[in-house]
Amino acid sequence: MPEKDNKNSNNSTATLTNYNVCEGIETEIKTKNNITIKEVSGKGKKEDVKIDIIVNYCKGCEICVAFCPEAVLVMNKEVAEVIDISKCTKCNICEYLCPDFSISVE
Ligand code: SF4
Ligand code: SF4
Repeated sequence: MPEKDNKNSNNSTATLTNYNVCEGIETEIKTKNNITIKEVSGKGKKEDVKIDIIVNYCKGCEICVAFCPEAVLVMNKEVAEVIDISKCTKCNICEYLCPDFSISVE
């Protein structure tokens, strides 16, 4: 099992770290009860979109990356990551195909 980027072991409170991946996109890393969620939000192709990836659950199978018709996702250290949310059409294919319920789009 590859080591995941989840160094925060605080079990009781959420820790938020905000940074911009690039202009117009906001990413928050939330950690609570040892579960780390990367939350990326911004303007998609049609409307605002938010993509959550649960880092701990992602096993790096690359299915979401391979089947996203808009090349929104990439792999980064064996965890899926949003590379260009502006192309996302909210088709939810990534969410439907993820075998570990690691990614959600709303
Ligand atoms: S399909 Fe799910 S488990 Fe596989 S890389 Fe994507 S988010 Fe991770
Ligand atoms: S919702 Fe569709 S377009 Fe957006 S990341 Fe998932 S598969 Fe790609």
